Amino acid sequence: MYIILLGAPGAGKGTQAVEVARELKLAHIATGDMFREAQKQGTALGLKAREYMEKGKLVPDEITVAMLLERISKPDCRQGVIFDGFPRTLAQAEALDKALEKQGKAIDEVVYIKVADEELMKRLSGRWICRQCQSPYHKITSPPKVEGKCDRCGGELYQRDDDKPATISERLKVFFAQTAPLIDYYTRTGKLVEVNGVGSVDNVRKGTLTALRREAAGRK
Ligand code: ADP
Ligand code: ZN
Repeated sequence: MYIILLGAPGAGKGTQAVEVARELKLAHIATGDMFREAQKQGTALGLKAREYMEKGKLVPDEITVAMLLERISKPDCRQGVIFDGFPRTLAQAEALDKALEKQGKAIDEVVYIKVADEELMKRLSGRWICRQCQSPYHKITSPPKVEGKCDRCGGELYQRDDDKPATISERLKVFFAQTAPLIDYYTRTGKLVEVNGVGSVDNVRKGTLTALRREAAGRK
């Protein structure tokens, strides 16, 4: 099964992707996490990506697609993948379709997690993330049990550089200009299902899994 989670920054893709990957036993590929990891390691890719990320811009397609194609060639991706934060442009979507087609595969489902703009801004500006397992928290809506510490793994929580107000509004702008057209792209192929991203993490997770199961059953 090859699934894409589509949604604006702050829609909850990351949280849902972790849960759904575990539930459906899929590899979880998050291009944002891969870029942040490359930065931590100080690689050339990481340095290049940082130039764009800190401004809230997209990393160029060429770089992103090359990294993604290498990642999906790994053995853990054979059983299926949940894509989180990729594709983000039409060119990326087309490159992914082409690469899967070459392996006789295709995207099965695209889940669009929908959240209103004001809510996105609120969520992103209070977001804290675990350095170790990347679990997200929110200082108001989902605080950790112990301040500054991850409930799941005890890791240290930090605020991402691009979660500052000016960068957040740029990221939202970029989403509506460059990524939102993918909603049409996947609607046209009949692969898009919309899930309401407002509510508890658990409810959104249930909505996502129900949508995926319904679609999977419909295809059989
Ligand atoms: P969010 O969805 O909250 O913005 P991500 O971790 O998915 O967080 O992405 C953070 C940043 O990483 C993006 O703003 C962008 O600069 C870069 N990035 C991640 N995925 C892609 C992609 N598919 N194409 C281009 N840039 C990307
Ligand atoms: Zn953690």
